Amino acid sequence: MDNCIFCKIIKGEIPCSKVYEDDKVLAFNDINPEAPVHFLVITKKHLESIIDFQNEDYLLINHIIKVINKLAKDMGIDEKGFRIVNNIGKDGGQTVPHVHFHVLGGRHLQWPPG
Ligand code: 5GP
Ligand code: ZN
Repeated sequence: MDNCIFCKIIKGEIPCSKVYEDDKVLAFNDINPEAPVHFLVITKKHLESIIDFQNEDYLLINHIIKVINKLAKDMGIDEKGFRIVNNIGKDGGQTVPHVHFHVLGGRHLQWPPG
């Protein structure tokens, strides 16, 4: 999508601090980190949220979990633990309408969220 900030990051029109990339997803550090480790895994396909998923889109979740598993180990947050967050829509607090999973770690995270 032309005016989507994450699509622009995928196209290289906006720089990012990349941590991983393949044909299906891109992972990069959040510009406004809420924890010592805070990166986003975004789909290369522009979909606003998981609510727009159809058919083979669901396979992306499998792939995203596999990528997060690898990156959590690479970044050394696998043993102490971390959190995966996927905000959806207005009530979910989603600010960028392009599917992305937050991965937060490196400190103890509070629960429940506000
Ligand atoms: P949401 O609120 O939609 O779940 O998460 C969007 C996230 O994207 C926020 O944590 C925000 O800091 C991050 N973000 C927004 N714009 C940019 C950007 O241009 N670059 C990077 N690296 N992160 C961004
Ligand atoms: Zn997009």
